[in-house]
Amino acid sequence: MRVIVIGAGIGGLTAALTLRRAGLDTVIYEQARELREVGAGIQLSPNATRVLLRLGLDDALRRDGVRPIAGQFRRWDDGRVLSRAPLGDECERIFGAPYYHFHRADLLTALASAVPQEIVHLGHQCVGLESVSDSVAVRFYNGVTARGDVVIGADGIHSMIRREIVGDEAPLFSGSIAYRGLVPATRLARHGLETNATGWLGPDRHFVHYFVSGRRYVNFVAIVPGGDWRIESWTAKGAVADALEEFDGWHPQVRAIIAAATATNRWALYDRDPLERWTAGRVALLGDAAHAMLPFMAQGAAQAIEDAAVIARCLARAQAGEISIEGALTRYQDKRLPRATRVQNGSRANGVRYHLRDGEEQRRRDAAFATAVAGTSTLNAWLFGHDAEAD
Ligand SMILES: Cc1cc2nc3c(=O)[nH]c(=O)nc-3n(C[C@H](O)[C@H](O)[C@H](O)COP(=O)(O)OP(=O)(O)OC[C@H]3O[C@@H](n4cnc5c(N)ncnc54)[C@H](O)[C@@H]3O)c2cc1C
Repeated sequence: MRVIVIGAGIGGLTAALTLRRAGLDTVIYEQARELREVGAGIQLSPNATRVLLRLGLDDALRRDGVRPIAGQFRRWDDGRVLSRAPLGDECERIFGAPYYHFHRADLLTALASAVPQEIVHLGHQCVGLESVSDSVAVRFYNGVTARGDVVIGADGIHSMIRREIVGDEAPLFSGSIAYRGLVPATRLARHGLETNATGWLGPDRHFVHYFVSGRRYVNFVAIVPGGDWRIESWTAKGAVADALEEFDGWHPQVRAIIAAATATNRWALYDRDPLERWTAGRVALLGDAAHAMLPFMAQGAAQAIEDAAVIARCLARAQAGEISIEGALTRYQDKRLPRATRVQNGSRANGVRYHLRDGEEQRRRDAAFATAVAGTSTLNAWLFGHDAEAD
């Protein structure tokens, strides 16, 4: 069985690895001329890292990843800790896989290095699909065509494969934008930042920071109201002074992290409504193409990695002749769609919960956080404890 994957982001590359491990002949087509992830940091929870560990990426993950000690939320002005859940060793003990922070470029390199170069075709922008009897023909902008038994659209939030399956609908602007920055840790040494994933919650905005690249850099993401800004691009610059102004009156630590940056990027945040189906015949969607979500649960890539684990299992059964290819893709969709939808909706809900203005609702939220503090990482058991390959 030949599987064509469109898109070599975190989802597409992981899918290539899981499919090949399952014994499926796999090729990837990527529109970019080189594989590149800019845009700073990414968090990966155990539901995703357990899949990557099984793909033999443990050395690369350990080399490049930072394991946070805890995940915590703090209040925007006085810095009061609202909740703190252990990560680090305790998370690994409970869930059997670590929580990691990466520089995106390191993660992408780790994945790309594990995929044989000869199966990755760069500079191939998919422009159309056609189902022909028992196969799918894929057309590329450069005039090349390819034929496979299955096509997986891992082509991101603006997916053209998605358009083929569910028609045209635009991504939805969330009203928020992200300022992102990387600060050399030495510049923040006197602030004694702990190795945590820290989220500061305040009126209409929130601020997240953590270490990446062996603790050499502090990555920050500052979510603020978007105004007229609508551009999604890791390379769109945002003035540090503007980012700082957005956090006027916030805790000195937040302001110190922003002020220590020499540059920031701005990224408008979009998501999509959950879909009712991810497949049509022998074509399926994976990752942001299927379930683009806001980054407020830090799960977009993690869910793409889970997709990759499940789709390979299902197609392996088709290759073994136990079910049809169409049946395998439907099974993949049925396994994955409800969970990814829950995470998509949860991410949207966090966009409201995290941005409450001070008042009754905010006090109720903080009280709920305070009760949860007594808990441990098991709070996230449904998310972190999930083993996409278990059944
Ligand atoms: C501010 C921010 C913070 C985030 N933080 C986290 C986090 O901490 N943890 C987490 O898990 N997730 C996080 N995410 C989400 C995560 O970045 C995405 O969910 C993830 O990168 C999606 O991967 P993907 O492979 O599905 O899509 P993409 O990474 O978008 O990859 C799609 C690929 O397809 C290619 N492509 C597109 N169209 C075509 C075509 N027609 N032909 C050929 N190739 C094509 C593109 O060039 C690209 O390489 C965050 C997102 C944002 C915006």
